[in-house]
Amino acid sequence: MKTIVIATNNQNKIKEFNDILKNKNIKFLSLKDINYNEEIIEDGNTFKENALIKAKKVALDTGYITLSDDSGLCVDALGGAPGIFSARYSGEGSLENNKLLLKNMDGITNRRAKFVCAICLYYPDGKYIFSVGEVNGLIAETLSGDNGFGYDPLFYLPEYNKTMAEINSSIKNKISHRANAIRKLGELVDEDFNII
Ligand code: IMP
Repeated sequence: MKTIVIATNNQNKIKEFNDILKNKNIKFLSLKDINYNEEIIEDGNTFKENALIKAKKVALDTGYITLSDDSGLCVDALGGAPGIFSARYSGEGSLENNKLLLKNMDGITNRRAKFVCAICLYYPDGKYIFSVGEVNGLIAETLSGDNGFGYDPLFYLPEYNKTMAEINSSIKNKISHRANAIRKLGELVDEDFNII
């Protein structure tokens, strides 16, 4: 069994990675599991740049193959915001982020948005690969649902007539930006997570 570190302490993301890759022979460790407490400054300008910064630093510091995920919500009518600033949009946490988004979307009829997930898989010898996944949706007028995390209660999926927080996690983990990015990553590595 191969051990891979996921460069995050976001338990929601770790759970989604475990669920989506449960058939593979991989043991995922979080930063907490390996007692990694170094500060990582995510000062890239794109999801990919931030994913690379995180995976590279942890892989080189620890010697583990490291997978990182930088993700966020991009809203058409807001010029792609909150984008790479999704986690810190309001500066006050998830519920406030959603409230600020609703405020900024007040009166806007173009509600199109997408979740984007950039994954970087970085090997201690310096090799790395990226995969990027997206899922399209609409920004709802009110928050609905308790599943998932972040902007899920506002991310409406017309084909399900539900928000991402109303569908169950097994569906989210098939259709999400993260699921799409992981699927693409799976095509770039063999069973032992070596680059093909
Ligand atoms: P990161 O941890 O720096 O990649 O920030 C990701 C942020 O984007 C999260 O804090 C959420 O606000 C948002 N986000 C990313 N993925 C999802 C998702 O699957 N559902 C809802 N919000 C998400």
